[in-house]
Amino acid sequence: MDALLVVNAGSSSLKFQVFGISEAGLIRQIKGQIGGIGTRPRLQAKDAQGAVLVDRSYDADAVGDLPAAIAAARDWLLTLQGFRLHAVGHRVVHGGPDYAAPVLIDAEVLERLASYQDLAPLHQPNNLAPIRQAMAINPDVPQVACFDTAFHHGHPEAVNCYAMPRSFYDEGVRRYGFHGLSYEYIAGRLREVAPKAARGRVIVAHLGSGASMCALSDGHSVETSMGFTALDGLPMGTRPGQLDPGVVLYLILQRGMSAKAVSDLLYHEAGLKGLSGVSNDMRDLLASDDQHAKLAIDHFVYRCGLNAGMLAAALGGVDAFVFTAGVGENSAPIRARIAERLAWLGAELDPVANDAGAMTISTASSRIALYVLPTDEELMIARHTLSLLKEPAA
Ligand code: ADP
Repeated sequence: MDALLVVNAGSSSLKFQVFGISEAGLIRQIKGQIGGIGTRPRLQAKDAQGAVLVDRSYDADAVGDLPAAIAAARDWLLTLQGFRLHAVGHRVVHGGPDYAAPVLIDAEVLERLASYQDLAPLHQPNNLAPIRQAMAINPDVPQVACFDTAFHHGHPEAVNCYAMPRSFYDEGVRRYGFHGLSYEYIAGRLREVAPKAARGRVIVAHLGSGASMCALSDGHSVETSMGFTALDGLPMGTRPGQLDPGVVLYLILQRGMSAKAVSDLLYHEAGLKGLSGVSNDMRDLLASDDQHAKLAIDHFVYRCGLNAGMLAAALGGVDAFVFTAGVGENSAPIRARIAERLAWLGAELDPVANDAGAMTISTASSRIALYVLPTDEELMIARHTLSLLKEPAA
């Protein structure tokens, strides 16, 4: 069977999926990851029915970094029988100011993507590592880069600029926005399940360990809560969300923290984890009696409401609100509390449907439709990869 490999490489995990290409379209065959890179490396993969195909642990120094994890995953993937690798689709966090759509990667494109490393120093190098390896090992297999920023590309300058001297915008200091593959998938899904709402003004809340919101008008992104980096906007598992830049100045100038220490704090020690002192995981916070866990949840819900208000203003009103990603898809209590904060916009939650995890969780009389739609960024990457190969961009 012809197959597509989708790769999503982060700093501590390498996720991959294999999709079969058939007449009927793309069919997920394998979902796997190597987690705990450098600490407790473990390769796990399941087939489409959820049967375990591999579950193997490694010594920390055997899979100490991302290249070693890529090699381990590749060794295992090569043992699979019956797949002909047609192409590889890669998640790349940053498409910079240039890329508004996925792109077939060649040496020139790779060089340009590498030049965006300064814009996303924690993510971009990880995203590019498997591309380099795959190009070296399988030079004849097409590699496609799919960007988290692309879906937001084309926001007018008044929307994506900061009030900074012009030269900063020109060198790339702009509000790019992220989670675009998720929003694009949700926009498409909404067209299938609620076409009328999809043509209107929609806020999508991608609430996972990273969290953001996007305002969609007729399926197009018009505003989003993240900006130059994935630090902005909503509070997240370990990132604070919107923060007065004066706090960063205080940390550096008054507290004498190094840039590296501030970066570690903002990416790994802040957010729900820092505020609660309990956990970065919403499940732990919901189960905890700790007053700071409660505070972290209160803050998260409050900021979600506040950002929804901002996006409602960008759209000039709201017709539908969609919950997605780990918290959005799975946590009825958090959805209920956020829906309460949308009451002023006319949202009315159906608590029975919400607790049952239904797709539509608003009442029939609600002025805003509330939906829960599972996201699927990997499928979006596979679709882009396939369609780019069928119809190469001009
Ligand atoms: P990412 O892809 O950004 O790593 P996910 O979208 O998978 O994240 O979301 C992971 C987060 O979802 C977890 O950290 C956890 O906080 C949250 N989550 C998952 N299931 C539940 C649940 N039943 N209740 C509350 N939160 C949940």
